Amino acid sequence: MYNVPADFINEQKIWEVLETNQNPDFSKIREILAKASEMKGLNLADVAALTSISDPEMLAELFNTANEVKETIYGKRLVIFAPLYISNLCENECLYCAFRATNKDIVRSVLSQEHIANEVKALINQGHKRVLLVAGESYPKEGFQYVLDSIKTIYDVKTEHGEVRRVNVNVAPLKTEEFKTLKESGIGTYQIFQETYHRETYSKVHLGGKKRDYNWRAWSLHRAMEAGIDDVGIGVLFGLFDYRFEILAMMQHIAELEAKFGVGPHTISVPRLEPATNSDIASHPPFPVSNIDFRKIVAILRLAVPYTGIIMSTRETAKMRRETFALGVSQISAGSRTNPGGYEEETEDDPSGQFSLGDHRPLDEVIRDVASMGYIPSFCTACYRLGRTGQDFMDLAKPGDIKLHCAPNALSSFKEYLQNYATNGTAEVGNKLIQNTINDMSGLARQRAEKLVKRVEAGRDDVYC
Ligand code: SAM
Ligand code: SF4
Repeated sequence: MYNVPADFINEQKIWEVLETNQNPDFSKIREILAKASEMKGLNLADVAALTSISDPEMLAELFNTANEVKETIYGKRLVIFAPLYISNLCENECLYCAFRATNKDIVRSVLSQEHIANEVKALINQGHKRVLLVAGESYPKEGFQYVLDSIKTIYDVKTEHGEVRRVNVNVAPLKTEEFKTLKESGIGTYQIFQETYHRETYSKVHLGGKKRDYNWRAWSLHRAMEAGIDDVGIGVLFGLFDYRFEILAMMQHIAELEAKFGVGPHTISVPRLEPATNSDIASHPPFPVSNIDFRKIVAILRLAVPYTGIIMSTRETAKMRRETFALGVSQISAGSRTNPGGYEEETEDDPSGQFSLGDHRPLDEVIRDVASMGYIPSFCTACYRLGRTGQDFMDLAKPGDIKLHCAPNALSSFKEYLQNYATNGTAEVGNKLIQNTINDMSGLARQRAEKLVKRVEAGRDDVYC
């Protein structure tokens, strides 16, 4: 077992804090929500108290506060990305996942570099600019070099209007030296989900392979940051254990990263268990999270770590995704496939996918829907390309200055999408939204937005500030 400090993810403390804060009265909750409105985050006790809210009036106040914080920091922006599964080979035995080693009922595939390039072309032709590379924990004969080669392949594909401008990565935990090479390959965020922070549950659902070592996984973001990767993403697979415990454990993980590196994670993902081929636990989660609790989780995270992005994938239905935009979600995947080769082949919910999808709509439809709700789909990759990552990003984000960059960049990258890829109906909705948004802006942000959007109209791609 990999060594980590004995008090890292302190389960006893989590139970104690949950116990002590389990029945807060209304005035206590209002006090916590008032503190959350200051956008400086919340402590463990505050978070524990919010998890116990069930009264509809209090829930409504929680959701309203989360909405206000989300709008103040992120405005109406929603960053768009697509996952790219390059291989479903895996040596691990995660009971909830279709890719687990002993599952004989899926077709195994490892995409060749040529095949990856074709997948990337298909994604670029839809309008994507951000890709999340995903793989099982087993690589072909070239080993981890396969992942590095794949990242290079993705960045090398250029089409008439597009290219992928940021590759984020969700692959198994690496050694520090490997993280260094991953950093050199030019990735954006490295993300890894602990799945469950509850050690006993972790052992029960991970029956084979390297993933059995809880500590190796839990400490992987420390190794990544030591290796110089500034932007890291964390997550929990909701449904495996009590969500209240998981949120508090995640707060401990974040606090530990902040204490050591001065900055916490760039993103939090909130996957909920979805059915997966041959997985009993995926269809019958031991701790099912209801829709209302799921919304509560998003709202609490938004208040607890206001400057950390929250990612919502297509595991969730279009309806749930829509509902959580207002509560704090800042990034969504769209038009996703979870089977290697799924974009070029245009397969929908292939049984060889990792899990079933809740939202099958193509990118253009998601964009139109999001824009009709007044949200601005952003394909911006400026921060990472200008070196605004890790602490630099947080320094910029915290005083709200990011709005001077993000709002104009979101509009110009959205305009680029509308001009190069959108259907007429989507372009109409989107162009109106861009105009209305600019009309509501003022000062430097407006000047920048107008200038960038005009440049795109004049035929320039990839303009940002
Ligand atoms: N294999 C690597 C790993 O396990 O970390 C990286 C990629 S794994 C394919 C990505 C994530 O998918 C996992 O961390 C897990 O949270 C999620 N996942 C697996 N099975 C799932 C299911 N049935 N429903 C929802 N999410 C699932
Ligand atoms: Fe393999 Fe990741 Fe699936 Fe576990 S979750 S079986 S490690 S692909």
